[in-house]
Amino acid sequence: MQEKSRGDFRRHAARDYSQTPLNIYWEMTQACALACRHCRAEAMPEPHPLELTTEEGRALLRQIPQFGDPMPHLVLTGGDPLARKDLWELLEEARCLGIGVSITPAATPALTRDVLRRLKEHGIEGLGLSLDGSTAERHDAIRGVAGTFDRTLQALRWAQELDLPVQVNTLVAAETAGDVPAIYELLKPLGVGRWSLFFLISVGRGKVLQPLTPEQGERLMRWIYQTALQAPFVVATTEAPSYRRVALEMKRASGADAEEMKRSGATRGFGIRDGHGIVFVSNTGEICPAGFLPLSAGNIRTDHLVRVYRDSPLFRQLHDPRNFEGRCGVCEYHILCGGSRARAYAATGNPLASDPFCPYEPQAPISGLKPA
Ligand code: SF4
Repeated sequence: MQEKSRGDFRRHAARDYSQTPLNIYWEMTQACALACRHCRAEAMPEPHPLELTTEEGRALLRQIPQFGDPMPHLVLTGGDPLARKDLWELLEEARCLGIGVSITPAATPALTRDVLRRLKEHGIEGLGLSLDGSTAERHDAIRGVAGTFDRTLQALRWAQELDLPVQVNTLVAAETAGDVPAIYELLKPLGVGRWSLFFLISVGRGKVLQPLTPEQGERLMRWIYQTALQAPFVVATTEAPSYRRVALEMKRASGADAEEMKRSGATRGFGIRDGHGIVFVSNTGEICPAGFLPLSAGNIRTDHLVRVYRDSPLFRQLHDPRNFEGRCGVCEYHILCGGSRARAYAATGNPLASDPFCPYEPQAPISGLKPA
């Protein structure tokens, strides 16, 4: 394993997130052999009949460089992207276009050492693997198929041999939170580059699991910050932007310097949130602010990704935190945090509402903005 940032998929070159996202997530297919209890995509064994064709996928890829420099990074998700028969030719197209690509395959028998080698040969810059339990029993219960824990650890070892950077993603829900420290201990010697803790949003099959309470979430975020300062890899969160506030509060209380703060990884996501720094294209071409915010602002078949991201009414609202409502609308942290727009939408049907997972009461509400 090389230096700590090796597994960080994201190229954090400075950019205006209202013009250019950091990451584009393309859900290549809903087809997947697993049946994970929290699957956002509600994956099926078969592709959706209206899934983007190879030519439509190529057309999507050709739009990405039109964001200009720095170009967004592309994350291929699913379902299982390995279930796309045209994966290799699409990877080749992306490489010809100069797009940096990461992939999040499912831990099925299709994920072999040879496939990982081919992915690396096709220019894949990072591999995302899910690990939701510290034992086979715990992980496989979440993933719905026996053997996925062993396959995931095997894929981790192969990736290490092949010098392929890995991000491990772990679900945080009431059912898994107590196991998070044990998962960290398991990962420590495995040479991963980045560990991202995804805080459950109840959409898709995720509705069968329970999210943490805001107070439990704050406690876990404090543990994450302390752990991140010493971890042999970057520790990050997904759909928990209020972690940035917690990290800043802890930094102030402890007197940690800017370098320690940077090393914790907490500053990396500053300003990024659903629809601002992130855009998601579904398997049928719908352009959404995030995979967990299933509001479509256009379709890749008829609209241009760059124009939708920059100019559609939905994205324009999400780019400006002055549009947010409730506590997130007046919070002094709303530029660097802004709350999870996906969770606000899941809870209220309004993507501009306050993030119900955050218990923070703004101390110095920003004047001139909408009151709660
Ligand atoms: S109130 Fe909203 S903007 Fe403020 S810290 Fe909480 S989630 Fe972030």
